[in-house]
Formats: sequence, C-alpha cells, structure tokens
Amino acid sequence: MSATLHSITEQAQPRQAPSAAPSPDDISLYLHIPFCHAKCHYCDFNSYAGMLGLREQYVAALVDEIALAGARARDARSKPLRCRTIFFGGGTPSLLTPAQIAALLDAARAAFAVDVDAEVTMEANPGALEYERLDEVRAAGVNRLSMGAQSFDAALLRWMGRIHSPEEIETAFGAARAAGFENINLDFIFALPGQTQPIWEQTLERALTLGPDHLSLYNLIVEEGTPLYGWVARGKVREVDEDTAADMYEHAQRRLETAGYEHYEISNWARPGRACQHNLTYWRNLTWIGLGAGGSSYYAHHRFTNARPIRDYIARVRASLRTPDAPGAPAPLPGGAIVEDEDIGRELEMAETAMLALRLAEGLSLARFAERFGQPFWPTFERRLSDISGLGLLEEVDGRVRLSPHGRMLGNEVFARLLPDDAD
Ligand code: SF4
Repeated sequence: MSATLHSITEQAQPRQAPSAAPSPDDISLYLHIPFCHAKCHYCDFNSYAGMLGLREQYVAALVDEIALAGARARDARSKPLRCRTIFFGGGTPSLLTPAQIAALLDAARAAFAVDVDAEVTMEANPGALEYERLDEVRAAGVNRLSMGAQSFDAALLRWMGRIHSPEEIETAFGAARAAGFENINLDFIFALPGQTQPIWEQTLERALTLGPDHLSLYNLIVEEGTPLYGWVARGKVREVDEDTAADMYEHAQRRLETAGYEHYEISNWARPGRACQHNLTYWRNLTWIGLGAGGSSYYAHHRFTNARPIRDYIARVRASLRTPDAPGAPAPLPGGAIVEDEDIGRELEMAETAMLALRLAEGLSLARFAERFGQPFWPTFERRLSDISGLGLLEEVDGRVRLSPHGRMLGNEVFARLLPDDAD
C-alpha cells in the first residue's frame, strides 16, 4: 500500500449530514461480488460458480481497491468525495459473511465521506442467505435488500437454473423483515419461455402478498454466450413473442398502480419514497465508482472498466498497490484494476444523459440539462428527432421532457435517435 493510501485510510473521514442536496461531485459506490453457487442459464453477469475459495483474497483486494480509489479522488480534489449510496451487486453478495460486508463498509467509510443516512443495498439470493445472520448484516450498515426472486413458479425457477424454491423466497423475505429490514426490493423476470399470462399474474399476486417496498420487473433478454442463447439458436427453446411480453408488462403496470406503487422507471416500481437512490444515480447520469472484478465507473467524463476474471482482478489490485502514484500527480482513475478507459465526449454525454433520464417517469429537467451542458435540450436534438417529431412520443410538462404514454411503448425509437451520428 502506498504512503498516500496510509495517510488517507488511517484518519476517520467526516460523515456528511443527512439530507444535503446532491452535487455533481458526489458519488455512488458500487461493489461487485462475483461469486455464485451455480450459474443461472440466462445470466451473462460477471459471476462465477465454484470459486468460493477465493472469497477472502477477493475481499482483501476489494478493501485495498476502495482505499486506493478514495485516496486518488481525495488527492485530485483535496477532500474526500461525498458518497450518497453504496450497492453490493453481483454475483451473490449474500455469499459473503457479515464480517466481510462490515470490512468493506468500513473501508468505504474510511475512503469517502459517506452520508450518515446513505442508502446501502445488498443483493441477496433467497437460496444463498443465512437467515439467522441478517441482523448482523443490518448492524454492519446495510439498510436495503434486493432479492433475486425471479418467479414464484417452481418449474420456471428450475428451468432458469435458480437454486431456490418459491417457498424460500417467502422465508427469506420474512426473515429479512424480522431482522428489521424496512426497505426490500424483489426482482422478477417476465416473458420467460413457457410462462403464460396466468403464471405471470400468479407470480405478481404472490409477490404483492409479501408487501415489498420496491419491485424490479425485467423482460427476459437472451444474451449471447449463455446456455439459453444456445438453446434458442438450436431451436430447443422459443422466445416469447413481443405481443405476449407487452401484455405481461401492461398487466403489471395496471396491477402495481392499483396496489399503490409508483412506476418511476421503465422496469421499476416503488412505494412512495422508496425509489432506489443508487440506481437514480445511473439514470441521472451522475458520477459513480464501481469497484471489484468487472466493476465499471463513470467518473470525470470517463467510463472505466475493471478486469473481469477474479484472479486477474486480484493480481492487478496487488500490482497497483506496489506502484504508488507519483506525489503531486495522482492518477485520475477511480480503481486499481482498470483495463478499459473510454473518454466520454460531450456529445455522447448529452445523448446518454437524455436517454437515461427519459427512462424515468419524471423525465429530464430542461433547466438542469441547460445548466450542465450550457445549451438547451430541444435545439440540441431537433435534427436527430425530426423524423419522429409528429408522432407524439415526447411531451413537455412543467419544464421537463418525458416519454408520453404512447412513447413509453416505443422508447427505443427515441433513444436510438438521440445518439450522435458517429456513436457506435
Ligand atoms: S444468481 Fe444472479 S449473478 Fe448469479 S448466476 Fe444467477 S443471475 Fe447470475
């Protein structure tokens, strides 16, 4: 570890007072935990089965990488960055022990000025959760759980390669409530081959019976390189047609609205006040630092991506620690295992900011866009949107532009046009 790192990590960082308004310099921190018990058939995330033996080394490397990122940010800006949210994603973060989660959170609090009321989410697999230790996870500082439930249909869960039963979802949810978690998300997938409309409706009803604070509903995507992709390519599995998928989505919209959930993002619903603050950072195209194997960051107008294989990641972090940053010339990088660095030009940043904000029901604030980029939204995109300008896909309400109800079904038509001509 470099001298710079010692000087930063050994002093307690000031914590931010709650409710201070976010500034563009604030960050959200993502920590990737790439371990899984088994690989689900549809999954293309950077996650690995059969590597649990590396957990301890991995957590040690991640603790070091957090310290490195905090030190570099502090050296560059002369003060620790304020951190508003932390998200343990994966993989299966619930495969870490509470002590490992606590060590990572301690490292984050030492490296950044973490808000005292920061939203701290941990993803959990109902089949890989030590129910009796959930209170320790909460005591470590995790205040939100995001459970990958995916379906309440036992046959579909088996087909997906999930390691849990429908009943285990309910048991895990009950245990989390009993441990004091007041903010719980459930993830589900629709448009699964073999999933009929009644099966989907039953899944939603059973989910609503639990009373989650947040629901994420994702349309199945057949990702290249997954077993599912091979099955579809060989004709063993037929994808659900678009009309059926749209029916499932529209049913969810109606049912969840009736149940009191706000549809605040294309795939996300929340009880009032329970929108995911961490993911809002992404949709508002603000700054985040993503650490761990395959972690990616959006920082200082660059997108950085870490090495994906676990052993490669650990080796790179160790090598970074052996090569201290030159005094007075800190590397402008947020992490210690970066293999890709993409400079996000201004044109692309404007397009991505608009595309991401249009995923939200609140849409894009025209004033904030103009303030951020020094130019107004409409003239910037007028030419690119000209061929769909008569279709009523966008609407302007109270100084915000958003997808119209009709436009929500055709969001991709709008998003594709916002990109600059030379973007990939
Ligand atoms: S548990 Fe999640 S991360 Fe792990 S293989 Fe399944 S879908 Fe992928």
